[in-house]
Order: sequence, then C-alpha cells, then structure tokens
Amino acid sequence: MCRTTTKAISVNESTKRSKSDLVAIKRDVKDLAMELMGEYLSWEWTFKFNNNKSRMGVCRYGRKRSIEVSEFYLKWGMPWSVIQNTTRHEVSHAVAIERYGRDAAGHGPLWKRVAVELGADPKACGDTKTLLPDAAFNWILECRECGTRIRYHRKPKVAKNPQNYSHANCSRGCFKIVKRYRK
Ligand SMILES: [Zn+2]
Ligand SMILES: [Zn+2]
Repeated sequence: MCRTTTKAISVNESTKRSKSDLVAIKRDVKDLAMELMGEYLSWEWTFKFNNNKSRMGVCRYGRKRSIEVSEFYLKWGMPWSVIQNTTRHEVSHAVAIERYGRDAAGHGPLWKRVAVELGADPKACGDTKTLLPDAAFNWILECRECGTRIRYHRKPKVAKNPQNYSHANCSRGCFKIVKRYRK
C-alpha cells in the first residue's frame, strides 16, 4: 500500500537570480539580440522578453515577427553560455527565414549554416524544461518504486490521489508528492 506524503519540502532556491542580477542579464541578452538583429535582419523584427515556462526562446515569423527570450529561465539561473546560445539560435531562425523563405524554418541545413555564421551551436534545442532546477516548479511527484521525479508548474490531476496512479515506466510504483505549492 502506498501512503501519501503531502508535507512540503524546503527547496533550494540558490540558483535563483537576485533582482539586480536579473536586470543585468536581461540587459546583456537584449544588447546581444539587438547587435545581431542590427547586423543581420531587416527592421521588421522586434525583440522582447516573455514568461514562457516550457521554452527558453522562440522565433515568431507570422505576421508579427519577433524574437523572444523567456525571462522565467533567466530568473531561474540559466547560465550566460546557455542564454547567449539560445539568443543566437533564435535570431538564426529569423535570418534563415528572411534569406531563404519559410522553407528554411526548422533546423535543416540552411538554418545550420546561418547558426554557424551567428556563433550558435548548430543543433536543435532539446527539452529546455530539463535545465530548470526543482525550485522552479510548483509540484513535484516521485515514484515510490523507482524514484523517477515528474515536475509540474500547475497542479496535475494525479496530485489529488497520487497513491492511485501507477508509474507507467516501471508499472509497479505509485506516486508520492515531494513538493507542493505553498501560498
Ligand atoms: Zn530552434
Ligand atoms: Zn517508477
């Protein structure tokens, strides 16, 4: 039988940036983006910060064209090496689309060529959520059998009765809550 633990754990928030550090890194990201955009792109593109929790950066190339970097990731201590690469990666998407058209969307050879030119690692970005520390999530559930942790920003359905859900990967374990959002 599984018992549910609902006690909130104390989280290590050491990776979280201070307000002044956040202001400083935002300025650096914006400076880098503006420099690259000024050199490689037309005036059609704008740069902005968003608060996306699942993606560190995005290039929007619909009617409104923008390059966006997530402030959420900056706040949660993403190192400069990662952030600057993300910024170059997203600007590279914009440059590839402007030069070669929409066929160059995605991480194909045309984008790769541009990425190298702009100093980005010419690889598709993996799941950026995995880079976030536990403290960045509001809910964390752990399989009692194999210890696998699943992290959520919003309260998942399974959090209501975690002992009733079995972990699909090991099929034996059920879940316990190791962190829950405290108001
Ligand atoms: Zn990409
Ligand atoms: Zn398991």
